[in-house]
Amino acid sequence: MSEVPMSELNNGVKMPTLGFGVFQVPEPAQAKKAVAQALATGYRLIDTAQAYQNEEAVGQAIKESNVSREDVFVTSKLWVSNFNYELAKQGIDASLAKLGTDYIDLYLLHQPYGDTMGAWRALEEAYHAGKIRALGVSNFAPDQLKNLALTMPVMPTVNQIEINPWYQQEQAVDFAQSIGVRAEAWAPFAEGKNGIFTNEVITQIANAHGKSNGQVILRWLLQRGITVIPKSVHQERMQENIDVFDFELTKEEMTLMATLNKNESQFFDHRDPVTIEQIFGSSLKNVQDNERKKI
Ligand code: NAP
Repeated sequence: MSEVPMSELNNGVKMPTLGFGVFQVPEPAQAKKAVAQALATGYRLIDTAQAYQNEEAVGQAIKESNVSREDVFVTSKLWVSNFNYELAKQGIDASLAKLGTDYIDLYLLHQPYGDTMGAWRALEEAYHAGKIRALGVSNFAPDQLKNLALTMPVMPTVNQIEINPWYQQEQAVDFAQSIGVRAEAWAPFAEGKNGIFTNEVITQIANAHGKSNGQVILRWLLQRGITVIPKSVHQERMQENIDVFDFELTKEEMTLMATLNKNESQFFDHRDPVTIEQIFGSSLKNVQDNERKKI
């Protein structure tokens, strides 16, 4: 079974450099089965979120596995409908209850919108109370990350952002790393977009190592110091995606990978006002109603 190397976060907590994502697996039985198979395959980092609607299934799969809780690194994320101090406190407790655990290893603000500072204060309280071992953010641009890191007492440990061969995010990764924040790649395969699994440049590198395109992509990210959380509901692909610690890309191959950058999100531009409106959607009402109750 592959041994996944650990990274040390800026608060001393150790986190696997490769994990298993469960976005778009909302059906409880399927999510539970996928996590059980991932644990059996050797994954020790599971990445879920309130928005994925499978925290409960993730918690059950961990509990029913033969891996002890302290050997699994659980990440979850607070959704924007809980973005103010009061709602965030409730949201954290809701995640803990659904996951059926006393603590979450890493808890992220899922998006950089709304009252992120109020929500962060609630995360900090939970951190000091031992309910969360490390705090982080997701989809924060460098200026937003700087703003939070500069003004709040507890430093974020991780920024989880879209990074894949089509959207390489060099600036965002360099900035995060320059302030000691670990970059974590979501959609490392761009969810298969633009023929990523058959791309000729990647295949050429893959053939040189007797590996697949997916494995080359994960290796390229790991060699940039980025944590990866590929998702698959197929056990043979789970095995393939974790089997990336027995080869290394050369400097030339890393440079070749860099030429694939289209410098464009494959999903949505987080700085576009339309994206903000879409992501908040009906959640805004929840936050606004809660604020109005106080007036
Ligand atoms: P992804 O990992 O880039 O791609 C997953 C897709 O690739 C699935 O369709 C999967 O199919 C397929 N696949 C996986 N391994 C493969 C392989 N070896 N060969 C061929 N196809 C393969 O996309 P993602 O799920 O969006 O991103 C990964 C994780 O990042 C998520 O699960 C989630 O935890 C996190 N995420 C976070 C955010 C955020 O805003 N913070 C946003 C998106 C995702 P099968 O499942 O059918 O095998």
